[in-house]
Amino acid sequence: MAPIDTARTAMSERAVTGHGVPPIRATIIGAGGLGGPIAMCLGAAGIELTIVDHDVVEASNLHRQVHFTVDDIGSEKAPLLAKAVMAGGSAMGRGGTIDPNTVGAMGRGGTIDPNTVGAMGRGGAIGPNAVGAKARGVVARWRPEDADDHTSDADLVIDASDDPQTKFAVSDWAVANGRRYVIASALRYGGNVMAGAPGYACYRCLFEEPAVAEEAPSCADAGVLGPVVGAIGGIAAAVALGLAHEDRTYAGALLVFDDLRAIAEPRIVRFAARATCPACARAPISPFTDRAPVRIAEGNT
Ligand SMILES: [Zn+2]
Repeated sequence: MAPIDTARTAMSERAVTGHGVPPIRATIIGAGGLGGPIAMCLGAAGIELTIVDHDVVEASNLHRQVHFTVDDIGSEKAPLLAKAVMAGGSAMGRGGTIDPNTVGAMGRGGTIDPNTVGAMGRGGAIGPNAVGAKARGVVARWRPEDADDHTSDADLVIDASDDPQTKFAVSDWAVANGRRYVIASALRYGGNVMAGAPGYACYRCLFEEPAVAEEAPSCADAGVLGPVVGAIGGIAAAVALGLAHEDRTYAGALLVFDDLRAIAEPRIVRFAARATCPACARAPISPFTDRAPVRIAEGNT
């Protein structure tokens, strides 16, 4: 993993505490196994969310979509997840500033303060300055044709869908509109997370085209271990939070987790922009620079 420098540490403190951070908006595509932890984590970090999902909760989802219950079966996922995010509250006080009484489980200086456990004040009551997280659910399939309706105000776009076509479309939209983005995928025992930002190689640079449907098994078809989507979703949220606060450590890189039962360290694959990439050709900030050396399969490989 990259060494932690002073700037990155400062970013991390801002990301954790919310000090001096204006409201940031993100659109999350998918309210399932990946979208659940991503939304809960980002909402609790004070990021204002739009959650787009066309689907309803099914009994077969519950082992990996732990933010839903049996009572939710048959209900639309996007508004349910938005409601869960808002019920969870946020570490941010009004106006985007931190309230020292409502700083997650951490008090000032990073130590546990018995008065500030969770967003709850002493005795388990919600502190008077605590605010709910902001999230809205949109019941729709995210499509490029009407993406602007759900995504135009987003600083950050996160794909948590189970559909290769959507992943490419989200990347293409983000590249064309100069947005930061994260593409998260999980299947069986592993998954991967790609971070993108203007000026860096994109998802299409690496994967070129969606695999044909018969060759691209989905979670519904091939299965996924429940905890794996939680782990990949959490990592995607952490990467997204970094990007939201201008940390480009993983921009233009793919974090690959082959089998989380065996090893939790990612292979970090950095890649250069592909000269023939049609998405990057339209990007407002060109990735075709010699800004950084290309390092392939950096990390523990
Ligand atoms: Zn590209």
